[in-house]
Amino acid sequence: STVAIRRALLSVSDKSGIVELAAALAARGVELVSTGGTAKAIRDAGLPVKDIAELTGFPEMMDGRVKTLHPVVHGGLLAVRDDAGHLASMAEHGIGAIDLLVINLYPFEATVAKGAGRDEVVENIDIGGPAMVRSSAKNHAFVTVLTDPADYAELLAEIDAEGGTSLPFRIRMAAKAYALTAAYDAAIAGWFAFADAFTNPLGAEALKAEAFPPTLPLAFARGDVLRYGENPHQSAAVYVPRGPSTPGVPQARQVQGKELSYNNLNDADAALELIAEFKGGDPAVAIIKHANPCGVAQAPTLLGAWEAALACDSVSAFGGIVATNVALDGPTAEAICQIFTEVVIAPGADDAAIAAFAAKKNLRLLLVDCLPDAARPGLQMKTIAGGLLVQSRDAGIIGADDLKVVSKRQPTEQELADCLFAWKVAKHVKSNAIVFAKDGVTAGIGAGQMNRRDSGRIATIRARESAETAGWDAPRTTGSAMASDAFLPFADGIDVAIEAGASVVIQPGGAMRDDEVIAAADAAGIAMVFTGMRHFRH
Ligand code: 5GP
Repeated sequence: STVAIRRALLSVSDKSGIVELAAALAARGVELVSTGGTAKAIRDAGLPVKDIAELTGFPEMMDGRVKTLHPVVHGGLLAVRDDAGHLASMAEHGIGAIDLLVINLYPFEATVAKGAGRDEVVENIDIGGPAMVRSSAKNHAFVTVLTDPADYAELLAEIDAEGGTSLPFRIRMAAKAYALTAAYDAAIAGWFAFADAFTNPLGAEALKAEAFPPTLPLAFARGDVLRYGENPHQSAAVYVPRGPSTPGVPQARQVQGKELSYNNLNDADAALELIAEFKGGDPAVAIIKHANPCGVAQAPTLLGAWEAALACDSVSAFGGIVATNVALDGPTAEAICQIFTEVVIAPGADDAAIAAFAAKKNLRLLLVDCLPDAARPGLQMKTIAGGLLVQSRDAGIIGADDLKVVSKRQPTEQELADCLFAWKVAKHVKSNAIVFAKDGVTAGIGAGQMNRRDSGRIATIRARESAETAGWDAPRTTGSAMASDAFLPFADGIDVAIEAGASVVIQPGGAMRDDEVIAAADAAGIAMVFTGMRHFRH
């Protein structure tokens, strides 16, 4: 099964080691054929080489799109050497056998990674290369295909030991060759389906249900392997999208602190997404625990926002993840350092802040180059038994103009502002979510309960206990806005607001018993607005 190498076709984008290999092959009496750039490199080294155009009778054309796509090439690679019919065809059409293909493909992924534009990326989709790889790998009974410079030495060793290549070697190289073309096309498919879908020109259109690709290509490449997953007995790794970094999607840099864990990354992401709701606004701070906020506040100063967010639930804030919507300053950093904090993530930090954190060696400080746009398109994925659920991210934003007042009493300006603040936070609380807020500060948050009333009760208890801890006269739910992430199904949903002393409720509306819920609010003198949009989050 040893096959002698008489004629080789060399066509490589990555030219490392190619001249040395060409010299070694020529020294062993192998005839060399090659494509443009590769032929030039070989010829410049003073070695004899035939241009592919000489074989095909066509010039390389169309910017290299058509170089080797010709029966004389593919016939030479695919012909079964002991098949009389194949041999007759070769003789009839003047096709010579090609015994060895040395190749690597246009650098598609590297072109994407460097942030090239669409045209340049598309031009780096290799066509003739993968075709030749597949032809020669299919015909591995007779043809050797090398797709990796790391294999050049082994080829020469085989030739020297056996006078040609062995079948096991050719099979191994064929397996590698198909793995290459499979990964190559997966990268291209991933770019078309996802990396490209995040950027213009397809934009949000690509994320409409009918635009979801019929199959989901491998669009992510493995990044860091993490110490463990959500629990120590689980393993974990981070996967990053193949393709260009998307404009507007933040790049985070870890300035200091321990290695980031699975939970750190998950919580930091939740923190960043929540604080993005306050992009461009007054300084805001969110403190996250187990992917839920335990305190969120917006104030004229960042330090003020931190103090207010902490006071919401200073017990839960221990070991929390802190995000800010503006660059960190020294006084705020020093205040954050007063309590044990796992991660701080912010769009920048001044020198005083960096110095303050430096004293806390373990604290992980992440700086992002920008805050994400809360309204940006994107995909979310979640595994289920036997599959993957994919949805567009919750980019829904509710503004004052979207609110519909349904109560008899008109909410005041301040109440409306409290409603919108509470709503932004509720969107980032696991369902069922109830959030009380007043004056740009959360007063109590209830998350993740199986019924809405329990979430309300928990939010109320939390507000009461925080008032006791802080020594306030009354819980801050008094006169607050209550946000519910989904509609209140029954009139008793208002009871929670009444018990907490809230003066206004914001909720999606749309329940069968909306009339009863509105009547209950009216009876209690509570104002109520509907958003027409819900924010389940699981
Ligand atoms: P060279 O640098 O020798 O001019 O080009 C080598 C590259 O061209 C290799 O990466 C090879 O895969 C690719 N290639 C060979 N034939 C064709 C073809 O017919 N069309 C395209 N698009 N690429 C080809």
